[in-house]
Amino acid sequence: MKDHKDLKAAIKGKKILLFGPPGSGKGNRSRDLEALGLVHVSSGIALRTTINDNLETMQAKRASDFMKRGELVPDDIVVPVVLDYLDREECWKKGFVLDGFPRTKIQSDILDAHIDLDLVLYLDVPGNFLITGIIEGNRRGCSECGAGYSDFDPPKVEGICDKCAGKITRRADDKTTTIKNRLKLYKKQTRSFLPDLEVKGIVRVLPIIVNTDEEIENKYLKKLKDKIYWVETDLGKKVRMLNLAGMKERLYRLLAEYFL
Ligand code: AMP
Repeated sequence: MKDHKDLKAAIKGKKILLFGPPGSGKGNRSRDLEALGLVHVSSGIALRTTINDNLETMQAKRASDFMKRGELVPDDIVVPVVLDYLDREECWKKGFVLDGFPRTKIQSDILDAHIDLDLVLYLDVPGNFLITGIIEGNRRGCSECGAGYSDFDPPKVEGICDKCAGKITRRADDKTTTIKNRLKLYKKQTRSFLPDLEVKGIVRVLPIIVNTDEEIENKYLKKLKDKIYWVETDLGKKVRMLNLAGMKERLYRLLAEYFL
């Protein structure tokens, strides 16, 4: 197995933002970046932890109600939670991958005033796949380490995490209506400030699709019940997609080109 020594040294201390709609694989890409030494900062996980630690407070109840409906938690709650996390010594020493924040223009401006990002990775996934991936693919995750699975990328033993042997469960907010809500919000509030980041010259696109003329090893292709899975892109083209291993390979290649 490759140890990616040069890449790990090059990305130490870097500040990377993952940008993409719900279901685009931010959680899994975060774990690929964690494997290179970065700290994973997920606003969703930070909020869930803060709620669990302060269950009886009004603030926690308010946040929890928004999350259950798939709506954005108000800025006055989420911004301090995330900024406190980013202030931790390990974040600026090791570098971090930020996942799920910012989601609004206001959050983006506040982040910009605090932090100079080194790279924004835009996870480009066909719109058609987003709901299919989560619902039909039966998205689930490890309750211990957060590793993500689905019927496209199942664990070796159902119910048990390949990485830490933790229990695999489904997310309570992964329901079609909630996901549709999260997607609508993404299009309206989040996608709209991507151009602000693009003008800084730090945005790179990480596509999940494999064009028909692209040569690729079979082990990197997304499959469902052992059959190669095809998806229709927003432009009506039928294409194949990368699986977890394929995306990790593509991500590390992009990082090497950018940082080495
Ligand atoms: P995630 O785990 O990133 O999908 O987030 C789960 C839920 O947490 C979202 O549906 C929102 O309710 C809330 N949330 C996470 N990040 C943010 C954010 N940056 N702004 C507002 N709400 C957020």
